[in-house]
Formats: sequence, structure tokens, C-alpha cells
Amino acid sequence: MQGRALLIGNWKMNKTVEGSASYARALIRALEGWWDTKRVGVVLAPTALAISAVGRTLSSTEIDVAGQNLELGTEGALTGGISGYLLYEAGARWVIVGHSERRQHFAEGDTLVAEKVGAAWQAGLHPIVCIGETETEREQGATQRVVSQQLERILAKPPQGPLTIAYEPVWAIGSGRVPEPEEVGKIADRIRQALRAQWPEAENDVAVLYGGSVNHQNLGGFLDQAEVSGALIGGASLIVEEMVAMVRAAQEHRGTR
Ligand code: PEP
Repeated sequence: MQGRALLIGNWKMNKTVEGSASYARALIRALEGWWDTKRVGVVLAPTALAISAVGRTLSSTEIDVAGQNLELGTEGALTGGISGYLLYEAGARWVIVGHSERRQHFAEGDTLVAEKVGAAWQAGLHPIVCIGETETEREQGATQRVVSQQLERILAKPPQGPLTIAYEPVWAIGSGRVPEPEEVGKIADRIRQALRAQWPEAENDVAVLYGGSVNHQNLGGFLDQAEVSGALIGGASLIVEEMVAMVRAAQEHRGTR
């Protein structure tokens, strides 16, 4: 599924509220006059505290805002929790679900991740669900099995909205190491096969991205893969010049097909 390339920047626990808004202003200025929104989509996921400020800054642009996580339900006794409804009210239209850092540090398992995908749809958000194997699982040759297992619960129920799946090998996140693009292409093909089998009617509403140490130099190799529709980017998305270079690389890439 080629078409428009989608670049999602995950800022994790970085940038102040003012720093986030000033990045957004700088990005708008840098993209003005040449960014073709039909060829490249851009979504930014700042900290929850900065969503309102970034959303307001970007309100007259086609850059969307995402949350990095959500809790189940709408309101209630969950100290520190932020629901999908609150994210939506703050200006987010997307939300990252099941990032490997949440699976690892907050013990989020496949059942909860699938429930959070449902909660995101309920709140009117577009979930970006992360899946991917650890280094040990890769060494054991278990990548396909792990990815299929992580997808199973999500695809078990009919979809209630659009979904984006980010294939992010855990060992590639923040490490500067990346898999061969062809390897990513094969996994994306398998994800597409699972979607065809489980959600034949909604298959076209699901995009598959790659994530893990993406930058403007290696992005093109991943975008070359037929089933890879973009990237989820951590570290490189924190630097506005690098984000701009990735938009340019993606736009040139999509312009040549
Ligand atoms: C991520 O955290 O989703 C990610 C892909 O990070 P990085 O690009 O820094 O590897």
C-alpha cells in the first residue's frame, strides 16, 4: 500500500511546553511553500502537557498532533491517568498505543494494548499501535511469531476506526541500528496478509509504518518497501532540521513513483 508517506514524530519525555510550541512554529516556517501534504503526512506526539500548546500552534496547518499513551475509560479514580477523551479535548487526533517502552516499563501486555486501541476509537482518536520483537527474540528466529502474537488480540475484534501499525524492532529503537529494509518489507507483507485475513473489509484503512533509528538518510530504503507507508521516528524527530530533511526525503521519494 504505497501512496502518501506518513511521518510521525514521537518526542517521548522531551521538550518543555514552550520548547514544543517553538519547534512547531519553526517546523511551520521551514515547510512553508514546498511541503506537499498529498505526498507526505506529518504527525507530532509531544508530551501530554504540551498537546494543547502544540495543537493551537498547528491549528491552521495540516500537521496533526498525537498523544503518546492513553488510559482506558473516560474519567474516574486513576491518579495520573489521561483518557483518550482528554487527549482529544486537548487537540490530539492520534494516539500511540503499546510502544515498547510502555510494554517494558509499565508492563503493558497484548490484552491491555488491544483494549487501549478500542478506547482510542471510542474517543475519536486514530491509534498507532506498536509491535516488534526484542533482540533475544530476533536471535531465536521468533520475529514473525512475536509480531503475529502481538497483532492477534488487536485483530480479534472488528475495527471501529482507522488503524496504523508501527513495526518497531525493540533492538532498533534509539540504538542507531536498523534492520535491512528488505527484512522490514517482508514483515510488513506478513502484517498485510494478517490484515487481509482478519479484516478484509477494513484492510485499506490500515497503514503499516517502520520505526527504529530512522533518519533522513535511511528513510528512503524503508519507503521503498511496497507495504511500508511511512515511519514512526523518535530521536531524529526532536531536531526540527532533521524532521524537515525527512519530510523532504519522503516527498522526493513519493514524487518519483
Ligand atoms: C520510537 O521510540 O518509536 C523510535 C522509533 O525511536 P528512535 O527513532 O529514536 O529509534
